[in-house]
Amino acid sequence: MNDCIFCKIVNKKIPCHKIYENKKILAFLDINPVNPGHTLIIPKKHYETILNVDDETLKELAIAIKKISSAVYNGLKLKGFNIGINQFKVAGQIVPHLHVHIIPRKENDGIRLWPTREYENKEERKRVQEKITRLLK
Ligand code: AMP
Ligand code: ZN
Repeated sequence: MNDCIFCKIVNKKIPCHKIYENKKILAFLDINPVNPGHTLIIPKKHYETILNVDDETLKELAIAIKKISSAVYNGLKLKGFNIGINQFKVAGQIVPHLHVHIIPRKENDGIRLWPTREYENKEERKRVQEKITRLLK
């Protein structure tokens, strides 16, 4: 599809180091790994974020995440790994084609996760909880 770099990988217009493929899913090595073995898992069809993807594809994606994580974890004899999805530009999504990062972790690899904060007060926490839960009823 159009100018999307991951669609070009799916369509073999540009190369990748393939890790796994089935009818709906493709996984390949990230070109600039956080640690060696950093893998990206994508639906072959172009969806910008998890908000657009259909449930059937999402199920396939979840199954692939488990399968591929296991191979990365055991194959590279890791102590752990992170699974991450950046959604929208403000959250660090650079490629607007849904992709899941499997990031191998080692002891003392110097990678820091995001900083945390406290709620300003109980009211703020309650307000936030309500804004989310009212859309889930
Ligand atoms: P994100 O910031 O979540 O959109 O991550 C995009 C990721 O895609 C980055 O980690 C890039 O290193 C990776 N990437 C970009 N182009 C390629 C490519 N041609 N092959 C493999 N990985 C890529
Ligand atoms: Zn795409």
